[in-house]
Amino acid sequence: MINARLRAVGVPEVEIEWVLGEDGQPTNEAANQFIHTQQVWKIVLKADALDDVGGGAALVYHEARHAEQQFQICRMRAADLGAMSEADKATSIAIRLDVPLAVAQEAAASPLTPGTTEYTIARNWHDPEPGRSHGGTSAEAKAMVDGIEEYLRGQRTRQSLDPLYQDYVRAYESGYRDIPTEWDAFFVSEKVGDKLGVERDTMPPLDDLIAQVAKAKGLPVPGSPAR
Ligand SMILES: [Zn+2]
Repeated sequence: MINARLRAVGVPEVEIEWVLGEDGQPTNEAANQFIHTQQVWKIVLKADALDDVGGGAALVYHEARHAEQQFQICRMRAADLGAMSEADKATSIAIRLDVPLAVAQEAAASPLTPGTTEYTIARNWHDPEPGRSHGGTSAEAKAMVDGIEEYLRGQRTRQSLDPLYQDYVRAYESGYRDIPTEWDAFFVSEKVGDKLGVERDTMPPLDDLIAQVAKAKGLPVPGSPAR
């Protein structure tokens, strides 16, 4: 279904790949994201990604929007390559922007026009401000997880986690959601989600994070009944 939508806006179709662990359970690895290389152009989904129907649809639209963004960036590059032959443009786009040749060929055949809004938006997706990358949240996320583990082991208080949580949320919002491609993709997925009555994706509450870390580390949550 998502491919029909992509085709409708002129974007090459994506492959959909489902990720399962050896035990047949969903894994956390490299899932729920759009991935492009010279070999692949695909959306990788966890096995349970669509269990929540509305949220799943919003997720797929979000990732499909990343495919559309990458294609627009390829079309922008096709314009920048100027007088080169279409075949040479396609080769250059595939290598420089790390997309399959078939995708690059489609982009080379339909370059954006410099100076248009479309072109300017694609340029902004391609060259975000320095420092704006997915990596921006990792330090705060690690501090949050480490802090929760210390709490679970009785080495710090619940209350002392609050500042870590605030830093984590702030880093997520300014370091991740504000990247031009993410801001745009969340705009799309939240519109889809709103239509389907899904609550807007917000940071999980601290209690949920604590429960996740407790499960991952096999530690009991203080104050919950022992099992
Ligand atoms: Zn995204």
